[in-house]
Amino acid sequence: MTGAGLLLQGGTVFDGLGAPGRVADVAVAGGRVVAVGDDPPAGLRRIDCHGLAVAPGFVDTHAHSDLVHLLDQPQPFKLLQGVTTEVVGNCGLTFAPLDAASAEVAAALWSNLAGGAPIGPAGFGELADRLDRAGPANNLALLVGHGTLRLTTNGLEERLRPGAAARMAALAAGAFAAGAVGLSSGLIYVPGSYADTAELVALARVAAAHGGVYATHLRDEGAHLGAALDEAVAIARAAGARLQVSHCKAAGRAAHGTAGRLLERLAAARLEGVDAQGDQYPYDAGATVLSALLPPAVAAGGTEAMRARLRDPGARAGLRSQAERGGVGDGGWAEADPADVLLTGHRDPRLVGRSLAEAAGDRDPWDALCDLVADDPAATIVVRLMREDDVRAIMASPLVGVGSDSLAPFGLEHPRTWGCFPRLLGRYVREEQVLTWEQAIRKATWLGARQFRLDGRGLLVEGAVADLCVFDPATVGHDGTYLDPDVPVRGIEHVLLAGEPVVEGGQFNGRRAGRALRGPGWRGPTP
Ligand SMILES: [Zn+2]
Repeated sequence: MTGAGLLLQGGTVFDGLGAPGRVADVAVAGGRVVAVGDDPPAGLRRIDCHGLAVAPGFVDTHAHSDLVHLLDQPQPFKLLQGVTTEVVGNCGLTFAPLDAASAEVAAALWSNLAGGAPIGPAGFGELADRLDRAGPANNLALLVGHGTLRLTTNGLEERLRPGAAARMAALAAGAFAAGAVGLSSGLIYVPGSYADTAELVALARVAAAHGGVYATHLRDEGAHLGAALDEAVAIARAAGARLQVSHCKAAGRAAHGTAGRLLERLAAARLEGVDAQGDQYPYDAGATVLSALLPPAVAAGGTEAMRARLRDPGARAGLRSQAERGGVGDGGWAEADPADVLLTGHRDPRLVGRSLAEAAGDRDPWDALCDLVADDPAATIVVRLMREDDVRAIMASPLVGVGSDSLAPFGLEHPRTWGCFPRLLGRYVREEQVLTWEQAIRKATWLGARQFRLDGRGLLVEGAVADLCVFDPATVGHDGTYLDPDVPVRGIEHVLLAGEPVVEGGQFNGRRAGRALRGPGWRGPTP
């Protein structure tokens, strides 16, 4: 908190709700915005914002930064983009609630998300408290992951054991009481992919009962996108939950040109009474684990079973014929060209930075894929799957906000991890005019804050929490590429967290001023 308060003077102020910018002074005191206008209170320290835009801090609705903020060094990679709150725990993958057995499996499957932070047993409230105490660089809002709930209650088995459904529901309720803002699912990742619709409805009901959102990585983002969206809407509708469709895209050749249908389906859901919206990152490539190209059935029974299957020629051939069918739940193989799959993380460092086609050499790319996953089940990729006109169509929709889908900010990673928000503003507002400034800012702030119930945040009005971003519209941008992603952001000048400056003149000042925000079901601090 700032004792004396601050005056952001003379900038063009955007409210986050979609109104055009207007030149005004913004006074901040006691962690809140206390005045917006041309007659500011006296005695405040002034920050000159002439020529700059003053906006609510950006809300990254889709991040995987759950654990990197526990590292000894603060991690300001999002703050430097103007992001003041990240929603973490997406795609069903969270690091709580975990017991000893499920923590071991999570460490084998999802270590790429942790950036070197230890993965161990933790209750949901325990993890939230630990993050709070560590002081994340920015605020975090935590989802509870369906994949994790399933892992902890049922291991990697496909069929639910007796009593597992009830245990998942009880663990979910505990997470909401500890402040989860929603339930996430990742229906292409084991073990989440094993769930049927009814299993997800039951858990989304728990979310709805606590005011939480249902955020989903759909079962299919390619040829069967329509059916997958229908399922997501049906789940939200049956559960009475708000719906967030994660990283909206039309992925793979068979889906190119279908962005319009995705948007129609989102709008239709709203007509049916489902509070549905989505998020998107402004790029034509995604990033995921290499194993996502395989049918999820490959992972049944755990890592060792998977390795054995991948090394068995008969099992390998069977998986291949399933993968080539390209049906729902058959994995991403049919949608991706091996030349468009860039290896970004693998136990063998010589492979990093190469395409799957290059790594395969003279071998059949399918065999290379199976070998690479068997050698390192947590290997990661950046994969070019989207067509630019689909990216732009989705971006233009007022129902779709911004979510970076960032992973840990180390090594060769998708450039969205360092530059998602500046790229949206620089490339798609200033240069290409796909959006106006006020549209893009609304999508980057209030739209997400509202769906995840980040009360008091995501808008810049008197009384709002003073999470703010000041940027230069003339220079904002990011030039990171898939092979050279970690380049500095341009034009993000000042960032405030509850009124406290954390980025000044484009530089992080070292303060760990973020907090773990708690959702509407929070019952208070754990004793
Ligand atoms: Zn996802």
